[in-house]
Amino acid sequence: MSARLLDGRRIAGEAQRDLVALATASRARYGRPAGLAIVRVGKDASFEVYLRALQRASEAIGIALSVVTLASESDNAALRAGIEALNADESVHGILMQLPLPPHLSQRTVAEAMDPRKDVDGISLRSAGNLFLRFPSFVPSTCAAVIEMLDRSGITLAGRHAVVVGASNVVGKPLAFMLLDRDATVTVCHIYTPDLGAWTRQADVLVVAVGKPGLLTGEMVRPGAAVIDVGTTVRADGALVGDVDFATVALVAGALSPVPGGVGQLTKLMLLRQTLRAQQTLVGGATVGNGREVRDG
Ligand code: NAD
Repeated sequence: MSARLLDGRRIAGEAQRDLVALATASRARYGRPAGLAIVRVGKDASFEVYLRALQRASEAIGIALSVVTLASESDNAALRAGIEALNADESVHGILMQLPLPPHLSQRTVAEAMDPRKDVDGISLRSAGNLFLRFPSFVPSTCAAVIEMLDRSGITLAGRHAVVVGASNVVGKPLAFMLLDRDATVTVCHIYTPDLGAWTRQADVLVVAVGKPGLLTGEMVRPGAAVIDVGTTVRADGALVGDVDFATVALVAGALSPVPGGVGQLTKLMLLRQTLRAQQTLVGGATVGNGREVRDG
């Protein structure tokens, strides 16, 4: 293996220490902990794992976590009402909606109903618009985790070619705008992109967010590139794997984030960081979102 391992657990340890300090200062200033509410419709076994990880991290950092479980048969009106109740609750500063929704519910309902000041996973129409227009905004936590990993690993973006494989609303697309915001030249590939390797081989920074184990192999990577694996698939034997064929890519890449132990370690922390920022905005009157400078072009 020649690639430097981007160790998500180590980076998460650093990020968590910063968040403990931030949460302690906020609690002293505002007289109560930041509150994060999680809304789910019915119960989903795979989400339970993320929920438990979030509960542990919230406890360690000092954020009050609550879970609202709506009945599986809830309609869009009940979903909207559930979100609006949390919009109005002063002890709640951030709201996370468990996605994907059951097929009978519309994500547009959530995107429209959620108070953008509490939208700590960046899924509301306002957050998406702010990101597009380069205004300060909340962003999907997974995308924030990718940027955090690059930043804390000293991997620069300005002037470099970033290739994102995957174009979903929750990962690929918002991440592409965040990379553009960091002055990278950005290419987005997706399921209809012919000859994927021809694009990925041009990347200085390559992010793969698809959900197909082994999609990216060593011959698709430019020697020395930084490769971030966002994909997570639970194999039949129960093992969690990414999209990257680790054995071949590690021989070529300059830096590589593994699965497990990579970006996934940071996602929950980014959600909690945005919750602390939401508290600062709602209670302390700070600028909404991640504090990026507003900049055109
Ligand atoms: P999605 O299914 O919504 O989107 C997948 C994207 O991959 C689509 O844009 C599709 O066009 C593209 N794609 C599919 N097959 C392709 C191919 N052969 N070549 C190129 N592109 C292809 O998935 P998502 O919600 O964006 O999640 C992507 C992956 O990231 C999943 O494995 C998911 O589990 C994982 N994920 C991880 C985290 C984390 O915190 N680590 C968070 C969210 C999602």
